[in-house]
Amino acid sequence: MKKRPTVGEILQAKGVSRRGFLKYCATTASILALPPAMIPRIAEAIENARRPSVIWLSFQECTGCTESLTRSAAPTVEGLIFDAISLDYHHTLQAAAGEQAEAARHAAMEENDGEYLVLVDGSIPRGNTGFSTIAGISNEAMLLETVAGAKAVVAIGSCAAFGGIPGADPNPTGAVSVMDLVTDKPVINVPGCPPIPMVMTAVLTQFLTFGQLPELDKHGRPLAFYGQTIHDRCYRRPFYEQGKFAETFDDEGAKAGWCLYKLGCKGPTTYNACATTKWNSGTSFPIEAGHPCLGCSEPNFWDGGGFYEPLSTGRFGSGERLAGAAGVGLALGVAAAAAGRSKQAKFTKEG
Ligand code: SF4
Ligand code: SF4
Repeated sequence: MKKRPTVGEILQAKGVSRRGFLKYCATTASILALPPAMIPRIAEAIENARRPSVIWLSFQECTGCTESLTRSAAPTVEGLIFDAISLDYHHTLQAAAGEQAEAARHAAMEENDGEYLVLVDGSIPRGNTGFSTIAGISNEAMLLETVAGAKAVVAIGSCAAFGGIPGADPNPTGAVSVMDLVTDKPVINVPGCPPIPMVMTAVLTQFLTFGQLPELDKHGRPLAFYGQTIHDRCYRRPFYEQGKFAETFDDEGAKAGWCLYKLGCKGPTTYNACATTKWNSGTSFPIEAGHPCLGCSEPNFWDGGGFYEPLSTGRFGSGERLAGAAGVGLALGVAAAAAGRSKQAKFTKEG
C-alpha cells in the first residue's frame, strides 16, 4: 500500500505557517481544557499523523455541515487539517463519481479495517424505502455496511445526531439519527445547525493526539464542547443578572447590548461552545451579532419551535432543561428584573 503523507507534510505543502499551526494547537488545547504543556504534544501528534482514514457519508441533509467547514473566507488551519485527513471518501467533496466512488469507499474500508472513522451528516430514512439512495443503496444499508469495520462513528450536525429537520413532525421519510441505528460502536454526536468547524476538527484532533474518543454527555456530545450552556459563557450575562433585557430588536436595550432572553434566547438551555470558540475563525457568534441563540444543538430543536418566544413562557418545559446552574441563573435573572425594574414586574417564569 502506498505510504500516506503525514498531516504535517500536507499542511506544509498547502502553505500553513508554523505560527498559524501552533495557534490552532493552542486553541485546541484550550478548548479541550488541556494545560499549555500539552500544546507541543498536540502539534507533534498532528504533524506526524499519517492521514487516518475518514469516510464521510451524507444522507438527508442540506450540506450546511460541509459548508460550515469549507466555506470560510480564507482557508482555515482547521479546514486544511480536516481536508488532510478526510479525503478518502466524501459524498459532497470527492472528485470520484459512480462506481469509482463506491470502489473508493470499499478500498478505504478494506485497507483500514477496524481503524477508520465514519463521519455522517444528515438523518437516515428507515428501511429500503427509496426516499434517499446513493449508488442504488438505501441510506440505512450504506450506513450499516460502512460502520461495520469502523472504530467509531461521528454524527456531524443536528440531523445526524438527533434527526433534525428531516425527522421533525410529521417526519415523512421516517428519518432517524445515527445513534438510533448504530448501537454496537461508539457514536459521538457533534450537533449544531451547523456545528462549529473548530469543534468538528478538535474531536478529530483529540482522536489523532491521544488515540481515544472524548468523554461524552448524556446526549453523546463531547463534554469539552457541550459541557456548558451558551448562557454560562455569554458575555451578555452581567446584563441578565442585572435584569437588563432588550425588549425588541431595535430598542435602546438592544443597542446597548443587553441580554436577549426576552427576544427568545435559548442560551440558558443550550449546550454548545459558540460563546467561547465563536464562528468565522473566532470573529463572532450569533448573540454577539444581536440575535438570540435558537438552541440548534439540542434534541428536538426544530419541533420545539418558538424561536422568538422567551423560555419563560413555560412552553419549553421547566424541568430537566431548566435545571442546574441555568435554572438558578434564570431564577436570579428574573428576580433581578422584578426587583430592579418596575416595568418588568410581570416578567416571571410563568410569563
Ligand atoms: S439569555 Fe442569551 S443573551 Fe442573555 S445572557 Fe443568556 S445566553 Fe446571553
Ligand atoms: S448560538 Fe445557539 S443557535 Fe446559534 S449556532 Fe450557537 S447553539 Fe446554535
